[in-house]
Amino acid sequence: MNSIKIGITGGIGSGKTTVCKIFEVLDIPVYYADIEAKKIVNSDIEIKKSLISLFGKEIYLQNGTINKEKLSNIIFNDKQSLAKVNSIIHPVVRKYYEQWIVDNKHYKWTVKEAAILFESGSYKQVDKIITVVSPLETRIDRIMKRDNTNREIVLKKINNQMSDEEKIKKSDFVIYNNDKTLLLPQILKILKN
Ligand code: ATP
Repeated sequence: MNSIKIGITGGIGSGKTTVCKIFEVLDIPVYYADIEAKKIVNSDIEIKKSLISLFGKEIYLQNGTINKEKLSNIIFNDKQSLAKVNSIIHPVVRKYYEQWIVDNKHYKWTVKEAAILFESGSYKQVDKIITVVSPLETRIDRIMKRDNTNREIVLKKINNQMSDEEKIKKSDFVIYNNDKTLLLPQILKILKN
C-alpha cells in the first residue's frame, strides 16, 4: 500500500522544520526538500552538466560543490536565469523525491517539507497540504535570533514570499505555531482526519 503524502509549507520562520521534527518523533519520515535539493545540485551529473553549459565551469568550485555566491549573484539579478535554473533543478529534485516515496511506501504517512511547495509545482506530488503560520512579529524575532540578522533583511525576505493568505487558500490544513496553541494536539487532529 502507498503512503499518504503530506506536504508542509510556510513562510520563513513560521516553524515548518519545528513542526516536521514532531512528525519525525511520531515515526513519520520527513523529506526536507531544501536540504535535499542542495545535496542534489552538488552531486547530480545531469544538473552539473546543464548548469556548467549555461554559466561556465566556474559555477562549481574546485571541490565539486556549487559556487553559491556566483549562483546567487546570477539569479538575484536576472529573473530569466532564475527561471532557467529552476527548470533545470526542480524536475530532477522531483525525481529524487519520487524515489524516496517508493523507498518509504511501507509508512502510513510521509511528509515533505518545502518552503516553495506551491511555487516549485511540487504541491502536485503530495496528497494533502499543511501550511504552518505564525504571527509576523514572532517570525521576525525568531529569524533575527536564529540567523543573527536585522529586521529589515527579514522583512524583505518575508515580503518576497507568497503570502500566508494565499498559501492557506491552497492548503487542506493550517497549523498555528504561536505562543498560545500547542503543536502536538494540532498534528494529532490532522492525522486523525
Ligand atoms: P525557515 O523557512 O527559515 O527554514 P522554518 O519555517 O523552518 O524556517 P523553524 O526553523 O522551524 O522555521 O523555526 C525558526 C526558529 O524559530 C528556530 O530557531 C526555531 O527553533 C524557533 N521556533 C519555531 N517554533 C517555535 C516555537 N513554537 N517555540 C519556540 N521556538 C520556536
